[in-house]
Amino acid sequence: MTTRKRISILGSTGSIGLSTLDIVARRAGDLEVVALASRSDFRGILDQARRFRPKVVALFDDQAAADAKKGLEGAGIEVLCGAQGILEAASLPDADIVVSSVVGAAGIMPTYAAVQAGKVVALANKEALVSAGAVITAEAERRGARILPIDSEHSAVFQVLMGQDRKALRKLVLTASGGPFFGKGPGILEEVTPEMALDHPQWKMGPKVTVDSATMMNKGLEVIEAHWLFGLPGDRIEVLIHPQSIVHSMVEFIDGSILAQMGVTDMRLPIAFALGYPERMDLPFDPLDLAEARKLEFFRPDFDLFPCLGLAYDALRRGGGVPASMNAANEEAVDAFLAGRLPFKEIAGVVKAVMDRAPAIDDTDLSEVLKCDRWARQAAGEIMLSFGGAA
Ligand code: MG
Repeated sequence: MTTRKRISILGSTGSIGLSTLDIVARRAGDLEVVALASRSDFRGILDQARRFRPKVVALFDDQAAADAKKGLEGAGIEVLCGAQGILEAASLPDADIVVSSVVGAAGIMPTYAAVQAGKVVALANKEALVSAGAVITAEAERRGARILPIDSEHSAVFQVLMGQDRKALRKLVLTASGGPFFGKGPGILEEVTPEMALDHPQWKMGPKVTVDSATMMNKGLEVIEAHWLFGLPGDRIEVLIHPQSIVHSMVEFIDGSILAQMGVTDMRLPIAFALGYPERMDLPFDPLDLAEARKLEFFRPDFDLFPCLGLAYDALRRGGGVPASMNAANEEAVDAFLAGRLPFKEIAGVVKAVMDRAPAIDDTDLSEVLKCDRWARQAAGEIMLSFGGAA
């Protein structure tokens, strides 16, 4: 590439963080890590810090930060801690690109801090835009910060729209694998265990996004994310099930032409695109073999079987505090499901019940969004108690 880019990775020990570091390791001449941040995985951070020699590492958890400090004594690497430490890593003057891959609404403040600092933000954290899309996109505009999506669907749309006249855009078509329960019949949803939900047919991802894929809430979150990234209303963002996961998403133009982006199911591709942008990096990954794949299928989603998808469209339409409430309730419900405290089928019920009680807020005010997020978590906890689950 023409210039060496300095990268701060928020959530470096998670699935997206590891894939990002894999790209950095392959392109050490082009990419340099200046900051690594994790919630509490100090062992992971220590390994990464010794290998990639960042200027700073940040751990949200105080004890983990203290352990990392001990482990990095004399290494010349600054160890930051707490929420403030993560925000410092997000706005580090030395960083050109901030990879925002914290999971869940915990990514709102770090993403906002990166945007506020005018960084190029390679965004994997969709929940930040779902809950605080109005605040984050307005701040990005004000500060001249560029948001480059890492989510594969949004990277696909972004790539397809390069050089196109936005006025000629009719609709976006986001593809969904359908998750592990697509086409299995409604009966299977009665008995889903965390192990079943975590066994995704196409993508290897972290547990939160994998469960979201199984309920199709992931696609719902992505519809809202697409709204904020590309400025279209929900009725011009369509979802199609595409079990092969080869077409990562499509754009339909006013003349009826549809352009698609295709590739193998490897998150390193959209990550590399964001890190290299506007250049493309030459990477030695297995290419897509269409003759081997042979067929591309598309189906309409079943909104009755996967109610979370409809809830997300509803949240986008209603706006205000509804998207943030939906997102927070979903995070709480997914946690409870993974801990064996809530049946899979009740996730949508918890989310809907919280959405129905969501407060009217000014979604351009970050403090109101964060307050709404906290309210929704508490409300979800109370509702789960009445479901016979536990808070
Ligand atoms: Mg995605």
